[in-house]
Amino acid sequence: MRKTIIAGNWKMNASKDSVKSLIGGILSGMEGVNAEVLVCVPFPYLSQVELLIEGSNLKLGAQNININASGAFTGEISADMIKDFGAKHVIVGHSERRSLYGETSSVVAKKTKAALDAGMTPLLCVGESLEHKKSGKTETVVEEQINAVIELLGIDSFHNIIVAYEPVWAIGTGMTATPEQAQAVHLFIRNLLGESSENIAQKTPILYGGSMNAGNAVELISCPDIDGGLIGGAALKAEDFLQICKAG
Ligand code: PEP
Repeated sequence: MRKTIIAGNWKMNASKDSVKSLIGGILSGMEGVNAEVLVCVPFPYLSQVELLIEGSNLKLGAQNININASGAFTGEISADMIKDFGAKHVIVGHSERRSLYGETSSVVAKKTKAALDAGMTPLLCVGESLEHKKSGKTETVVEEQINAVIELLGIDSFHNIIVAYEPVWAIGTGMTATPEQAQAVHLFIRNLLGESSENIAQKTPILYGGSMNAGNAVELISCPDIDGGLIGGAALKAEDFLQICKAG
């Protein structure tokens, strides 16, 4: 039985004041939440959030890491650094990083490795663009993105990986995939993992991301192969985020 996981991705949205009230709001409503809940925050706020969530069930994550462990990489942040501030999870391969910062599947696989080497759990994002969807290439795209990780790290690496299926056309657009559309791709991903290991396929959490909100979370999360959500916009309001957490 896979546990429901709800992860907030704050993207580049935060201030010291907003962090204090958002985390305070989430913590005050966590009673009755059975899902594993984490927030992936911008780097400068890791320390603040680490202190605010101390002693709670809320977990901390980051949104990116460098592929290297340390060295002359000006402006970059390593997995060990974010771990030092209490982050146990890190998003890798978010579509915004793939499209805006040229991260290829090979780079994403190396970031996945960097996270695992540091003892962290990567949230590996995969998903097709609208163009790919329209031309019937969803499965080809997702397969290439997943296979890049299997090729570099082997199927056993998925013991510590959370997959997030995020159709690019649904991110931040309000155009959520229907539960049927999302379930079909989640099952495709699970079957793909199952070609290498049925055990891993059954154990790997596969989250849905893309305009998930308080109104559609229950329907999406109740699909058999959807194990939770990666939430962008709706993770910035404690009340909305908590409603999604309670859907799991
Ligand atoms: C995301 O950024 O991962 C995301 C799913 O965003 P949104 O929920 O706003 O679509």
